[in-house]
Amino acid sequence: MFSFIKKNAAANWNDWRWQLCETIDSPEKIREYLNLSPEELAEIIEVHKKFPLKISLYYLSLAQSKSLQDPILRQCIPSLQEIEQDNGSLDALGEENSSPVPCLVHRYPDRALFISTNYCSTHCRHCMRKRRWNADITSKEELYKAAEYIAQTSEIREVLISGGDPLLLPEEKLSEIIEVFSSLDNIEILRIGSRLPVVLPQRFTKDFCQLLAKSKKPIWLATHFNHPQELTAEAAQAIDNLLKQGIPCINQTVLLKGVNDDAQILAKLFTGLLKIKVKPYYLFHGDPISSAMHFRTGVEKGLQIMDELRGRVSGLALPAFAIDLPNGKGKIRLEPDTVLEKDDKGNAYYKNYQGEKVYYF
Ligand SMILES: *Cc1c(COP(=O)(O)O)cnc(C)c1O
Ligand code: SF4
Repeated sequence: MFSFIKKNAAANWNDWRWQLCETIDSPEKIREYLNLSPEELAEIIEVHKKFPLKISLYYLSLAQSKSLQDPILRQCIPSLQEIEQDNGSLDALGEENSSPVPCLVHRYPDRALFISTNYCSTHCRHCMRKRRWNADITSKEELYKAAEYIAQTSEIREVLISGGDPLLLPEEKLSEIIEVFSSLDNIEILRIGSRLPVVLPQRFTKDFCQLLAKSKKPIWLATHFNHPQELTAEAAQAIDNLLKQGIPCINQTVLLKGVNDDAQILAKLFTGLLKIKVKPYYLFHGDPISSAMHFRTGVEKGLQIMDELRGRVSGLALPAFAIDLPNGKGKIRLEPDTVLEKDDKGNAYYKNYQGEKVYYF
């Protein structure tokens, strides 16, 4: 449907700087690509004032229809539901309260999350850090304060470099962050969270992947594929370039109503990720984030999908289904119930993947 975008761009398509320059960042620009009614355009303009629209041309080109229900468009086109009254919170996970120093969230004993930037190339409408879209970029001083805190907190073994998208930082700045954290004696690994393999895979040139690999400690890359339409040749190439530099990749999917809340779609996504050598790590139920409440499916729906996938796709393809408790209480992994009944000896009847009741002693 949108393949004409790529054809017109031909020579520049694989240049990530060109992609960044061409980013669609106004309702008027998106209008050129979609058949919006005046009402739809007015709605987008209204939502854009509060939660700005931003879409890479590459990501837009993945849409297969002009319907706003297309799983790609649903993830990036503003919807009126974002500014309707809801019972969510913009900081539902209480990140600002588990911050010992600015831009560092320390919730679990052995790992801490550093918010390196608030900048993204494409704004996901379900983003759980929308509250920061308009905030400042993390300063050098904040970086060194965070590093000092981590150095003094010897239980911390892992730093998650998050954002925004850390891999959009200027290279010197990114190198400095990696250098500072990977030089700390107590730090064993770094984990970078980035959606660029999905929205700007052109960024992963050989040189750039080599720069990441200069880290003194192993780097893991956690990315965010939500739909099989996002599994393209460009994405596969980006992952391959990372793997060739020894950077393993895992994926965190958010369960999104009307995008991927379907066992068949997720089976295709998870097995497709294995084919490009990305391990599905988490499937998150949507957090109660104000402005993203319309994407939530209900926890039961997620459990039902996990139950359908169990035994039907490779165990390697199955992520952990998880919720993140409000106010910084942490993540919980949930499993569909498999114990049907227990006898007086404490042995149980289990439900297997075919729904049969089987006794285990
Ligand atoms: C999710 C999260 C982590 C990482 O948790 P894992 O289960 O190791 O993936 C770390 N810190 C914070 C604040 C988080 O929200
Ligand atoms: S890439 Fe991540 S931080 Fe950026 S808008 Fe999407 S969900 Fe939010």
